[in-house]
Amino acid sequence: MKNEKSIRVVGIGPGTSRHLTPAAAEAIASSDVVVGYVSYVEMVSDLIIGKEIVSTGMTGEVERCRAAARFAAEGRRVALISSGDAGIYGMAGLLFELLENDDSAIEIEVVSGVTAASSAAAVLGAPLMNDFATLSLSDLMTPAEIIRDRVSAVSAADLVCALYNPASRRRRTLLPFALERFAENRGPDLVCGMVKNASRVSQEVWMGRISDFPVERADMSTVVIIGNSHTEIIDGRMVTKRGYKL
Ligand code: SAH
Repeated sequence: MKNEKSIRVVGIGPGTSRHLTPAAAEAIASSDVVVGYVSYVEMVSDLIIGKEIVSTGMTGEVERCRAAARFAAEGRRVALISSGDAGIYGMAGLLFELLENDDSAIEIEVVSGVTAASSAAAVLGAPLMNDFATLSLSDLMTPAEIIRDRVSAVSAADLVCALYNPASRRRRTLLPFALERFAENRGPDLVCGMVKNASRVSQEVWMGRISDFPVERADMSTVVIIGNSHTEIIDGRMVTKRGYKL
């Protein structure tokens, strides 16, 4: 980066360092301060030996961005780490917003990572072969009403859909709503899948018909992929047919 004051916002991928890109590893290696959520910091523990580490709990996103900005303003090389891709429900946008009116001329570099939808899709088979949408079912920042409208629009458009943040201990109503809406529009035999802890040692996979979806198994470490009307299970893998004439 040209500027002396800079922050690299680094997507570390879905889990173990095998799914971290060389560019992300390099960005972390060349920083002297690493800022991140405590369990993401643990995921890259082998890359950060000897560096200053600032880690906070899950809801400390603003706090983490502010800390990163403070270090960068002092001229330290900062890596702000985010899971998956930093620009997909991650830290990148928040940092741009926070520095919008900042006059310390900090340059931001975003280093992309493997997002949960890609990594879950690879585990399931090839469900994202045609047009797809991602929706987050977290109503912390987006009102539930808007989420319900988006679920209805996506399900009516026959888009494959990756659902991030499908359910937490407290938020358990939007996933059943979404499943019902998709089943209504596409029928009870609609193929869908769910991957918990994709690309981590504790990975769990389910795929089947939407009417059999084990809703109680979904949590914040899970991504759900709802197929479209051309999605099938082929030899135990979830595949969206694109329309090739074979
Ligand atoms: N920036 C991240 C997404 C952050 S939102 C990315 O690009 O992947 C957090 C949500 O992402 C989780 O609730 C879950 O739905 C999904 N997620 C992140 N990592 C995951 C993983 N390893 N396995 C399954 N889902 C994951």
